[in-house]
Amino acid sequence: MDLSNVSERGNVEDRRGGLPGGGAAIGGIGALVVTLVAGYLGINPQVANQLFQAFGGAAQKQKAGPGKADGYPEFAGKVLGTTNIVWREWIARNHNRRYEEPTLVLFDSAVVQTGGCGNVPNEAGPFYCPADKILYLNPAFFETLEKELGGSKAQFSQAFVIAHEVGHHIQNLLGYNAKVKAFQDREGENAGIRLELQADYLAGCWAYHGQRTFKFLSNPEKDLQEALKTAKSIGDDAIMKKMGRDATNSSKFNHGTAAQRYFFFKQGFDTGDSTKRTLDKFFDPNIRPLDLGPKTWGQ
Ligand SMILES: [Zn+2]
Repeated sequence: MDLSNVSERGNVEDRRGGLPGGGAAIGGIGALVVTLVAGYLGINPQVANQLFQAFGGAAQKQKAGPGKADGYPEFAGKVLGTTNIVWREWIARNHNRRYEEPTLVLFDSAVVQTGGCGNVPNEAGPFYCPADKILYLNPAFFETLEKELGGSKAQFSQAFVIAHEVGHHIQNLLGYNAKVKAFQDREGENAGIRLELQADYLAGCWAYHGQRTFKFLSNPEKDLQEALKTAKSIGDDAIMKKMGRDATNSSKFNHGTAAQRYFFFKQGFDTGDSTKRTLDKFFDPNIRPLDLGPKTWGQ
């Protein structure tokens, strides 16, 4: 990935490097359970927090630190800058309104304190808090992603993860977050798949437009494969398999299967079609969440 054509920087707040503030550390079995149930990339922070309270007890918190001079804020700021440019123009053109730019908080503590989403354990993975309009990311997550989940920590894969969380921000601004509640009674946890696949798709649309504006894929085929590898690795079935759980119990799926996540990121990347008509299809009551895919997309 090559971000040398990008001059805009998004809002990044680097809270890393703080000192432990005391209390018991979360870890072991508790952490594993949180990881399993909460999933990755777009979990409901409230749920993660409850699990954390149940398994972790008193949390080890870290005081906000001075940040780290590892270049990560620069990288993340540029990636967020590209999402700002792409979505600002798109929101103005399609929704005739100003784009509210989200903030990205970098953390490295066992627990991250948010305003509207409570205290969220590191094990929850990257997430977006709608109440704060803030994305939270521990860059060390990408080591776990590559080593334990079979994803990729390549730059474009990391950018995809950030763009996926920005996708949740777009959903928040456009009211799709609120929409999913109506589906929950009928579909239970599966309703979350609608939001997650739409966020993957929005990340794909960002990549489509970003590539045309910034030529940020230095090796398009290889860069894309790295991101697609990640999309597959964070499918519900893939994660359950890694955790040694029953990967056929799809009633518990809330992010979409590996095949679904792969398809929708790629579909967004191939078409860049973020029209309301297409985005609404993720919330078509006649299509069940687990049926979202090539067939229901007319392919
Ligand atoms: Zn998500």
